[in-house]
Amino acid sequence: MSTIVDSLQAIQASIVAATVSANRTDKVHLLAVSKAQPSDKLRAAYLAGQRQFGENYVQEAISKQAELNDLAIEWHFIGPIQSNKTALIAQHFDWVHSVDRLKIAQRLNEARPENLPPLNVCIQINSSEEGSKSGVDIGLQSMLAKEFSSMQNLKLRGVMAIPAPTQDFAKQRAQFKIVADAYKNLQQQGFEQGFKLDTLSIGMSDDYVAAIQEGATIVRIGSAIFGLRT
Ligand SMILES: *Cc1c(COP(=O)(O)O)cnc(C)c1O
Repeated sequence: MSTIVDSLQAIQASIVAATVSANRTDKVHLLAVSKAQPSDKLRAAYLAGQRQFGENYVQEAISKQAELNDLAIEWHFIGPIQSNKTALIAQHFDWVHSVDRLKIAQRLNEARPENLPPLNVCIQINSSEEGSKSGVDIGLQSMLAKEFSSMQNLKLRGVMAIPAPTQDFAKQRAQFKIVADAYKNLQQQGFEQGFKLDTLSIGMSDDYVAAIQEGATIVRIGSAIFGLRT
């Protein structure tokens, strides 16, 4: 478990260094992506100060939440959403990064329990040209964003994307810039419509430095903290 603490501290330092070298003075949040990792690893990261955890699979997340219910974890759902899972997601998470269609947003809104604060959501944008990844096609995000003004139990926070993986730093930046531009457009639109966006969720273990250069406010990092998934 000491390796988790070491990796976590190394990533935190690297995020700060990347933020400084991007001439930014705001804070970049670290979301620890813990899918396919046992709950004792999450506990170790929590004891080292980590509070925000990201999960992709509903059932797996719910069983870990039960094992960790003595901890004040902020749970983020980041995986593809099947419509028959929306109620469980609305009940068990604080954030959802992967909303990519109206029907899913409506179902999350209806299922969010009244005793909980509004569910924080991001619109997932498909910025890559391969057409295989989930997400709203680039350019269509503002149509979906407009619908959130009538959903009392959801709070639109920003956008998320998973560009095609590449080792080429310039390509990583170019892909993230497309997402960052879409986010800025939406932010401007939001001023007119009463929603305030503060979240650009981009960057994973292999490309978070490029994402921070392009303005990421949350980076979602799994293997660089917990090691390879089993
Ligand atoms: C798995 C996953 C991550 C983390 O990936 P790593 O390469 O392990 O950092 C981030 N975001 C999403 C949506 C994921 O599914």
